[in-house]
Amino acid sequence: PERVNSEGWDLTHAPTLADISKGRSPFQTAEWTAAPVLSSWPENSRRRLQDPILITNPAKPGDTVGQVQNASSEDTTAAIDNAALWAADVKTRAAILNAAADAYEAHAHELFAILTREAGKCMPDAIAELREAVDFLRYYAARANADHRARGIWTCISPWNFPLAIFTGQIAAALAAGNAVIAKPAEQTPLIATRAVALLHQAGVPASALQLLPGGGAVGASLTADSRINGVAFTGSTATALKIRASMAVHCVPGTPLIAETGGLNAMIVDSTALPEHAVRDIINGAFRSAGQRCSALRCLYVQEDIADNLLIMLKGAMDELHVGDPWHLSTDVGPVIDQQAHNGIADHIETTRNKGRIIHQIAAPAAGHFIRPTAIRVSGIEEMTKEIFGPVLHVATFKASALDDVITSINATGYGLTFGLHTRIDDRVQTIVEKVQAGNIYVNRDQIGAVVGSQPFGGEGLSGTGPKAGGPHYLPRFTAQPAPQTDC
Ligand code: GLU
Repeated sequence: PERVNSEGWDLTHAPTLADISKGRSPFQTAEWTAAPVLSSWPENSRRRLQDPILITNPAKPGDTVGQVQNASSEDTTAAIDNAALWAADVKTRAAILNAAADAYEAHAHELFAILTREAGKCMPDAIAELREAVDFLRYYAARANADHRARGIWTCISPWNFPLAIFTGQIAAALAAGNAVIAKPAEQTPLIATRAVALLHQAGVPASALQLLPGGGAVGASLTADSRINGVAFTGSTATALKIRASMAVHCVPGTPLIAETGGLNAMIVDSTALPEHAVRDIINGAFRSAGQRCSALRCLYVQEDIADNLLIMLKGAMDELHVGDPWHLSTDVGPVIDQQAHNGIADHIETTRNKGRIIHQIAAPAAGHFIRPTAIRVSGIEEMTKEIFGPVLHVATFKASALDDVITSINATGYGLTFGLHTRIDDRVQTIVEKVQAGNIYVNRDQIGAVVGSQPFGGEGLSGTGPKAGGPHYLPRFTAQPAPQTDC
């Protein structure tokens, strides 16, 4: 392995996690730069930023993490004009994607720092995210085969909540099949995307097969409104997915695929036979880990009324143990939400419910930075929840044993179908509930976040997405054209 990385940090003295956590890492004060990475502009990295936007740390608004130059409409045109399929054979492509995975691992400390400071990820989340990104690279590299024919140019639009893992997963699948990729990272997280693209290029992905266009909705809109785009992979809100589909229907060739992974209104049912301490652990993880900023997160808990009082006592106690604060510290459980706008929307929701006297429990959070106090709120049922609250807010309803079927009907009636959790020790009940609930990922007697590439393909039904599931066997084939017919048939 290399001893000095591309920025000149001596990896033999790379900071340990404890060093990072204590602030003894050069990456704690480093600044990064993001700009369009175009194949027509090889000198891109030295391009002067004309109109830079500052990126600040969501946990510490005074901490500047870097700056970004967003793509102009000329950049978008240039990217599409100069995109070219990755001509290398499948073995070479797989070897290069594996080399990129090695490079991600070798740069772990830098990537942890950017994930923490740009996206507000807690250290355990940053570690899990790097693991997932590396898994995606290796998984799609392993699944690519010579029968896969590239479709053409893919637009990959990724979210800020998994700015390395989902960003990399979309790109890796498209590249493994030999496509050209134009990636648009979330507006909030261009720095980690820029480092990832640099590592992919250094590993050998050609510049014309992978280009990067930082920017907001306007850049995404132009990348889904051009007849030369042959497919779109998108993870983000359901509303944006619908806009993309409408735009593709007008501008793209009929049949151009859209792979959309969108929101969820995810429920968990805890019946009276559940083991309360396990249920509480999994409720806490599902609702509050990653500050609730996962589309898989638990939003609405249904507790059977016979055990509700006792379970809520335990839940409050467990919430009190959560440490909300600086994501650099290894002991922090809940970091900030991504930005001021997200903060305001979640805080408004909490205040509205406070005015109705619905707060069950709330714990403290730092006043500076975009922190939200983890909160549990009483609701009569999931039908009261009209939108996904993307933060550390748990809604709790109770149900009578005789109303179990109605609960499932209400959960299905939301129209979303991403994750679902069940805590019970009745085997027959597992069987019947799993058959009735419409959700892409169902978890029994565990939490409902953190799907693992290759063993828990992730994706939803209905308003939650189109499939195929990421990290599963059907995902990569969706990025390919049908194999050419045999000449003799
Ligand atoms: N795959 C992630 C999980 O299983 C969620 C992805 C997302 O939030 O978009 O928790």
